[in-house]
Parts: sequence; C-alpha cells; structure tokens
Amino acid sequence: MFGFTINHMAELGPLVGEPLALDLVNTRARLPGQDLDFLSDLAGLRRWLDCERDRLPTLPPSLIDAPTKKDLAAVRELRDHASALIARAREGRRPAGADLAALNEAMRAAPVRHELSADRTLRSVRDGGPGTRIVAELAEAVAGMVADPAVTRIRNCAADFCILIFLPSHPNRRWCNPAVCGNRMRVARFHERRKAALG
Ligand SMILES: [Zn+2]
Repeated sequence: MFGFTINHMAELGPLVGEPLALDLVNTRARLPGQDLDFLSDLAGLRRWLDCERDRLPTLPPSLIDAPTKKDLAAVRELRDHASALIARAREGRRPAGADLAALNEAMRAAPVRHELSADRTLRSVRDGGPGTRIVAELAEAVAGMVADPAVTRIRNCAADFCILIFLPSHPNRRWCNPAVCGNRMRVARFHERRKAALG
C-alpha cells in the first residue's frame, strides 16, 4: 500500500493547478525518504511546461516544446528565488535583496510588448533570447503572487512529510492532493491505531 502510494505520486508528476508561481515551487516535492525534483532535466521541464501551456500566453509553442539547457538552468535558479520570496511574503516580511534583484532582472531581460497583426489581432510578444523568455514569464507570475495579499493565505500540505504549498479556495482544504497525501496519512493513522490496539 505504501509502496503503491509512493510510486503513484512519482508517476502523477508535479502538482499543477495552483497559481503558476506555486506550481513552480511545487516542482520540488518530498516523500518519506525520497526527494523528488520534477525539473531535474530537460524532459522534466518540457513535461511541466506542457502542463502549464495555457498559462504561458506570451511564449510561442516552439519555445514551450523545445526549451534549452539554458532555460532549464534559469528556471531552476528562479525556482530557488521564488521559494524564498514566497516564504518571506507569507510571513509578511520584505524580500531579501538578492531574491528581489534576481526576480526583477529576469523580468527585465525579456519584457513584453504589444503587436497588432494584419488580421487586427492584438498580441503580447515577449522579446529575448534563450534562457530569458520562459524565465521572464515565470518571474512575472512569481512577482504577481508575492504582490498579492492572498499570499498570506498560502498553506502547507498537512501531511507531515510533504513540502507542497497551495492556495486553498475553501477553508477546509488540508492536503496538496487528498488522493495522495490525505490517503497516505489515513493509512499511516490506521497502522498506528492497529499497532496500539495490538499493544
Ligand atoms: Zn501533500
């Protein structure tokens, strides 16, 4: 049962569907005795970007489908800054200077401009080279989250081993994913009770 649950989470992939900034932070996860990094290689980044495709409006499909090694390094670096920025913002603290500078630099490196096409559609286009556009889009999402008063409503998953965070849409939510962490904790409690009963 435990083994199944662990494999299940590793196979499920990262938690997605939270605000994009939290999805980024949540690409690092933990199971008892096992750290998971869903952005450990280019294939992982490709899979994650594919899940988030609809939330990356200024990135062309070619970029989402074929990120570079430079993109991967930049996204991983941004993720560290994002974790630190969000952790401090949750406590109402000011960002650390290095995190703030890195975030602003990432946004500055690939800004968005608007472009009117001949068919009269107005598009947002992001300029910048490899390793800048994807990370700029994500940096904007992180900045938006840190600036949002809702940042103080972010919660940790209630499973003792889990490091995932989420923004609850209803006050009773306790788990990142009830099917994974909720179930795992129920199973653990069941075994504890049984052990106690057997004395
Ligand atoms: Zn969890």
